[in-house]
Amino acid sequence: MPVQYTNWNKLYPEWRIGPSDCSQSCRKSKGKPNGKKPAPEEKKLYLEPEYTKSRITDFEFKELVMLPREIDLNEWLASNTTTFFHHINLQYSTISEFCTGESCQTMAVCNTQYYWYDERGKKIKCTAPQYVDFVMSSVQKLVTDEDVFPTKYGKEFPNSFESLVKKICKYLFHVLAHIYSSHFKETLALELHGHLNTLYTHFILFIREFNLVDPKETTIMDDLTEVLCSSSGSSSNGSGNGSNNSAGAQNHVKER
Ligand SMILES: [Zn+2]
Repeated sequence: MPVQYTNWNKLYPEWRIGPSDCSQSCRKSKGKPNGKKPAPEEKKLYLEPEYTKSRITDFEFKELVMLPREIDLNEWLASNTTTFFHHINLQYSTISEFCTGESCQTMAVCNTQYYWYDERGKKIKCTAPQYVDFVMSSVQKLVTDEDVFPTKYGKEFPNSFESLVKKICKYLFHVLAHIYSSHFKETLALELHGHLNTLYTHFILFIREFNLVDPKETTIMDDLTEVLCSSSGSSSNGSGNGSNNSAGAQNHVKER
């Protein structure tokens, strides 16, 4: 079941006003807040080859993310961002019962901790499920706001649209990264790692194609990205049986 979001009027970061730089509403710090050295990294289960090769499709995501001819860039960004939001929300909901205030006392990804900042720049101390709730409820509010994600004919996208999309993608990346770093075991137990890998690969190639997230922000997962995304879009990789699995994608997306 998708997660229900209730904090509609509380503690939203101010998405519409403020510096175009999207680093203001969320900052991170390395290591533990008490200054102690971070614990040595555990072995990353999600990097095991037997798991990284698991996907649910052999689509050529590099082609799939490209802006199709005749489609407006903002429309393409809006449609994809909304879809990623729904899929990442759904993927998180599969492990959300394990992501509790006790198991995840902070929004941690490997040894990095993320903090949520309210609209006044005040740091909000929150657990991982609270952080994800802030992200999802804020994004839900944005993607259903007709002034930000217009769906009616003749309605224009706001000037701030691209910077809002960048913010959304940054936060969605944090959620995906948290699932990998803290809930991969549960994802494996549910046999949903193929879905997670596929979603991650598609998402990373999309944000790369349109430079939506600062590469510094995603460095933390570079080891995984390298394994998953370097094999995506390469016809010499994958099953190698010459099947026509990518034909579907090519029907939808033509060369620019
Ligand atoms: Zn968690």
